[in-house]
Amino acid sequence: MQQTYPKNRWAWAEINLGALRQNVHTYKEGLERGVKLMAVIKADAYGHGAVRCAKEIIAAGADQLAVATVDEALELRRAGIDVPLLVLSEPPLESIQDLVEHDIMPAVTTEEFALAFGECAAHFDKKARYHLAIDTGMTRTGVSWQDALDFRRMLDFHSCLECAGTFTHFATADMPGDWDFSLQLQRFEDTIKLLRANGFDCGLIHCDNTAATVLAPKTHFDMCRVGLGLFGLHPTPLTRTQITLEPVMSVKARITRVVTPEVNTGVSYGMTYRTRRPGEQIATLPLGYADGYKRALSGRVQVLVHGKPYHQVGTICMDQCMIMAEPSMANAQAAPLAIGDVATLMGTDGETSVTADDLAQAAGTINYEIVCGFGMRLEKVYV
Ligand SMILES: *Cc1c(COP(=O)(O)O)cnc(C)c1O
Repeated sequence: MQQTYPKNRWAWAEINLGALRQNVHTYKEGLERGVKLMAVIKADAYGHGAVRCAKEIIAAGADQLAVATVDEALELRRAGIDVPLLVLSEPPLESIQDLVEHDIMPAVTTEEFALAFGECAAHFDKKARYHLAIDTGMTRTGVSWQDALDFRRMLDFHSCLECAGTFTHFATADMPGDWDFSLQLQRFEDTIKLLRANGFDCGLIHCDNTAATVLAPKTHFDMCRVGLGLFGLHPTPLTRTQITLEPVMSVKARITRVVTPEVNTGVSYGMTYRTRRPGEQIATLPLGYADGYKRALSGRVQVLVHGKPYHQVGTICMDQCMIMAEPSMANAQAAPLAIGDVATLMGTDGETSVTADDLAQAAGTINYEIVCGFGMRLEKVYV
């Protein structure tokens, strides 16, 4: 494959749009007829680039989008993306005019916000479409499930407010058979029933993230909110056997320097690594923890060059890190490392791969945080 590089930097995140489209198709095919797919593309599409990914995801069949902040929603609207768009938690009152002007639906959880939202919509002669967020047990956001009926009774005096959806979020969807999951689901179903019995239109009913979409198909209701899965990653090893996905992000860099120091030469801050053998090469890669290559990974990961794994050695710096080539042994057949060689820090090179899960495990975190981190500063190259 012809390699595309960014103009001004020898480090980048490669985003495979074909894989993204394929993953959207795979999720869409897993849904029953009429169930909508809401693509969750908060945090710049989990680091993959929100605008570009949104366009592909919609073209591939997603029905709606969700983000975490109003600014994320505005970025999409300004790029001409016009599908229904939800902000997953209630934003500040000051953002209301932006929401109304750009037809962005907020999650609503307080009376004060809801009424101000309705007033503003009335002023502009528009409908104030919102989704009611219900806390069924995660204790993060939403109206407590016991209060949902009273809350709706308060809101429905306002003629401009229109409930386009009612949703909750599971805390343990990645643990099938979990008792807390069942309890949250029961509370959610009871609340919907109660609201409907009292004559309220709940709009689209939705509660599933990626894990629940795959592991608990009975909870799809009207729409599934899938984030991580679209980017080809699994929220738990349990979903691996249920759905086949292709990772969308790879992280690459070109070697900027190669030296062959004397034995026992220190490498990087603190000199936590010292060269061990004559002929050992130390190569520099121009990316570091400010690019999401977490400092906690120092000395614990491998980088692929010419299809072979090399140890990352020494402390990972803010903007640089080093890798080591043994003079013999594992890399005996390989050509020595050279300036300009492409190194894969996450992704596949030949027969070998480094996955977001490998990095997450080495850093003591989850794959979500790994891809979000790589999205922070690296230029995205779309292929
Ligand atoms: C982030 C988020 C999702 C998507 O979660 P994934 O595990 O990435 O699928 C869905 N719903 C809410 C409320 C979220 O915050």
